[in-house]
Amino acid sequence: MAIMTDSPQPENPENTEINEPDKAAEGPATAVPVIIGNRPLAPGELQMRAPRRGKPPVHLADLTATERTEHLKSLGHQGFRAKQLSKHYFEHFTTDPEQMTDLPAAQRAEITAVVFPKLLTEVSVQLADQGRTVKTLWRLHDGSLVESVLMRYKDRTTICVSSQAGCGMNCPFCATGQAGLTRNMSTAEIIEQVRIANQQLAAGQVAGGPGRVTNLVFMGMGEPMANYKAVAASVRRLTDSRPDGFGMSARNVTVSTVGLLPAIEKLTQEGIPCTLAISIHAPDNELRDELVPINQRYKIDDVLDAARTYFDTTGRRVSIEYALIRDINDQAWRADLLGRMLTARGGAGWIHVNPIPLNPVPNSKWTASDPRVEEEFVETLRSYGISTTVRDTRGSDIDGACGQLAATIVEDARHREDREARVGRVELIAAAPHLEGNSRG
Ligand code: SF4
Repeated sequence: MAIMTDSPQPENPENTEINEPDKAAEGPATAVPVIIGNRPLAPGELQMRAPRRGKPPVHLADLTATERTEHLKSLGHQGFRAKQLSKHYFEHFTTDPEQMTDLPAAQRAEITAVVFPKLLTEVSVQLADQGRTVKTLWRLHDGSLVESVLMRYKDRTTICVSSQAGCGMNCPFCATGQAGLTRNMSTAEIIEQVRIANQQLAAGQVAGGPGRVTNLVFMGMGEPMANYKAVAASVRRLTDSRPDGFGMSARNVTVSTVGLLPAIEKLTQEGIPCTLAISIHAPDNELRDELVPINQRYKIDDVLDAARTYFDTTGRRVSIEYALIRDINDQAWRADLLGRMLTARGGAGWIHVNPIPLNPVPNSKWTASDPRVEEEFVETLRSYGISTTVRDTRGSDIDGACGQLAATIVEDARHREDREARVGRVELIAAAPHLEGNSRG
């Protein structure tokens, strides 16, 4: 999901800087354009399977506590080293052998090279909000590129992580979605984004003073539920008590999805009370089939039923994300239909809706709703008793907000024609008068 804000508290972005990582102190420089994604997808095409590519090397963070002990033994080391290494990684956020004085000096470099292979290499860093929002572009071992965004607020520090390189869900308003899926990320590649952020925070390298990551949203590049196994394992590493994991509160971990029904059902059965966020973007199947193509496979009513079951099972209120796109999905009747569909499933207490002003992406004429239209949309939902908060769009000035997490997309003439035809089709559907009963309300 390329929706990365988590806060209803706007803070005006100022002093945007674009810095090379090792030149940050020297002031603004120019960001390097990069190409992300496998291939542009045809309109409405879904890429459910990741192309086969070489797997990243096994890392300590890929393994459960039990597996770590076995892994160390299989490498010829004593099993208890696993606990020591886990402490360094999950409590002190380090992979530096020099700091591991409890390991035999002669073995430190050898052990760390095997259990902590380098998975992420910093390509560039962009700062906003006087350094309190940090977007980092990472290169993976095979050259794939992903991004993470760290956001510091008064009361918490949130990281938005990527779970796939590219995305196969093909939402037409999203820069990442236009590039196709390169590959799934491994558990450790996901967790390394958090470990490095924690290391920088602990060292006081991020504006706002020393701290640690308190909240995490899977709203960076990719559809987390399409990489279920690695994402579910990551949630465990995040929430397992230290030193098996980071010891984060499950309620502060948000897993988002455009509505991969089987994966929502699996997550419900995991029994981890993390927050589930579902990106709806349109309440009617006609428009949602176009805006969120996975809707052609899993219809909105079924997804909302699964969301309600998630609430019943975990007790966690479900977040409904709704990117507000001017004249496309922001009509009052769509807010009214959404209100009816949500409250029809047992009142308003089980959900919270976050309308998000769209961040325009390159090559697209779609933009955020008029503020008065946005207000009417919000008030309509509130008239149903639904808790509704317009989200902060932190980082939008560094292309780090919803739908903007892919840098430069290469587009040929055919792809451009396809995309423009698709936009025209969406606009026709968006403007069609609402017919009562076209979706269960
Ligand atoms: S294409 Fe859709 S699912 Fe994929 S990152 Fe973009 S908004 Fe999220």
